Amino acid sequence: MTAVSRAAERREHVLREAVRQGLLDPELSPLAAFVDLDGVAATVRALREAFPGAPELPAVTHAFAAKANCLVPVLRELERLGMGCEVATGGELARALAAGFPADRIVFDSPAKTRAELARALELGVAVNADSFQELERIDALLAGRPSASRIGVRLNCQVGGGAIAAMSTATSTSKFGIPLTDPGNRERLLRAFAAYPWLTWVHTHTGSQGCPLDLMARGVAQAVEFAGQVTAAFGAGRVEGIDIGGGLPVNFADDEVTPTFADYAGQLRAHAPGLFEGRYRVVTEFGRSVLAKNGFLAAYVEYTKSAGGRPIAVTHAGVQVATRTVFSPDAWPLRIEAYGPDGAALRARPVRQDIAGPACFAGDLLARDRALPPLRPRDLVVVPDTGAYYFSTPFRYNSLPEPAVHGVRTDAAGRVEFTLVRPAEDPWLLTDRDGVPEPEPVPVPAGEDR
Ligand SMILES: *Cc1c(COP(=O)(O)O)cnc(C)c1O
Repeated sequence: MTAVSRAAERREHVLREAVRQGLLDPELSPLAAFVDLDGVAATVRALREAFPGAPELPAVTHAFAAKANCLVPVLRELERLGMGCEVATGGELARALAAGFPADRIVFDSPAKTRAELARALELGVAVNADSFQELERIDALLAGRPSASRIGVRLNCQVGGGAIAAMSTATSTSKFGIPLTDPGNRERLLRAFAAYPWLTWVHTHTGSQGCPLDLMARGVAQAVEFAGQVTAAFGAGRVEGIDIGGGLPVNFADDEVTPTFADYAGQLRAHAPGLFEGRYRVVTEFGRSVLAKNGFLAAYVEYTKSAGGRPIAVTHAGVQVATRTVFSPDAWPLRIEAYGPDGAALRARPVRQDIAGPACFAGDLLARDRALPPLRPRDLVVVPDTGAYYFSTPFRYNSLPEPAVHGVRTDAAGRVEFTLVRPAEDPWLLTDRDGVPEPEPVPVPAGEDR
């Protein structure tokens, strides 16, 4: 059996078990999410194998980009697997610390770090990548001549161009991130910063996320390596201790094949940026989506079906609250949908074209339009694969839709599935708490007459 058919079979097996164990229930939990923790461990192994370390790379820290899936138990699992953690806000820093990452395996990247956030990071010894000349000055003032355990770098915008999704492209000529390397005078200004700030010892770049071709990302890294060489030429070997190459490996949302692989990207890096592999620099990576996306899925019941203008529509419980990017930007973020019966067995009837809708009150709340799927009926299940990163882990509060439960999944050698709770479902009746109002009495659900 191929890895691809194994992935589909495994999803069905997990879904059936989730229904059998009551984790999915048409009334009590019509929407739930699953993270395959065995899959996460296998992905981390593949990442390690692609960047094997010494002698080519004296030390490699793979810092998972927390924004891709910031659930603390998921982060804790990645910590246990030896990963580091890249955080982009004070909130993500709090989560990384709560997950148990040691400070020296945390990297703080944000274009808007406050003084207080920087002071905290420097005190903890968290690595910091400055995003601007102003931030470098601020760090210098905060350090006030004292040494810090933090590795401190500067983020370069290598301006190598954008990928297929503008919002994900961080190396365009006018991107808001980093110091634009090719703008007139900036190279010289950066070299002056290295001259002025002995604590500045790392170079960072991140070309973009989903939609960036591998060679574009590798060319961005090549520019950063070239700049590190310039610093070395000016100030001597060892002046740049390491290069943080960012993340951004795109994910295949079309089927279960893992492509491109970390090994594919390492190959591109060897071709475009051989200097990275000559043993001179420590390396940090910051992959997010490629670590988690294919290791998570959503499952939701179909509540009603109807037909409008000749098109069948299945109204499900998964919509904009868990698939925000896909709903607002469907062409950039298409997702697969799979159809299962109420017991979690894959439906095999001849596909018909239908819309898969979410529960929210606006017409665009659709997971898929005009998608060929076996005819769906109320109480069938839809599964949305490849949603382990940037989907259910970062829910959108529109319509007071509650966050669904997230379950971790492991399978033992005998094929037994074990679930652990990663995030409990939010009780919609308790949402008023955050507005400072006590919750109302829940309305009892009458026994279902249409079961
Ligand atoms: C978002 C982000 C990442 C992770 O990107 P992925 O596409 O999820 O791999 C890494 N580094 C920085 C600075 C980011 O903003």
